[in-house]
Amino acid sequence: MPIYEYEPVRPEQACPECRGRFEVIQSLDEAPLTACPGCGRPVRKIVSWCRAAMSQPAEEDRRVESRVRDYEQAGQFSHAAELADKHSEKTGDKTLKSRAMDNYKKAGYDLD
Ligand SMILES: [Zn+2]
Repeated sequence: MPIYEYEPVRPEQACPECRGRFEVIQSLDEAPLTACPGCGRPVRKIVSWCRAAMSQPAEEDRRVESRVRDYEQAGQFSHAAELADKHSEKTGDKTLKSRAMDNYKKAGYDLD
């Protein structure tokens, strides 16, 4: 059964159950929730959030990763570092971040 994500319409009034985002497993023919099961306050379904989050960045990640590798192979470590650093800030990718740090060092930056 699919998992749907909901968020409170008014986050400042949300109870612990619906604060931020919460997931509900529902069958396809079940009507979407309009109220939090905990506090009864209005909630809304987050539409196509999953698809947007999964397909596009993955594509972009691969592109960035291959450009970083190109720079590394060409010995352009500061370029590789900046690109990896900028992209890791955006995505929160820790592996890419530490790769950026390595490349900064190889480029001769003093990080301390
Ligand atoms: Zn609630």
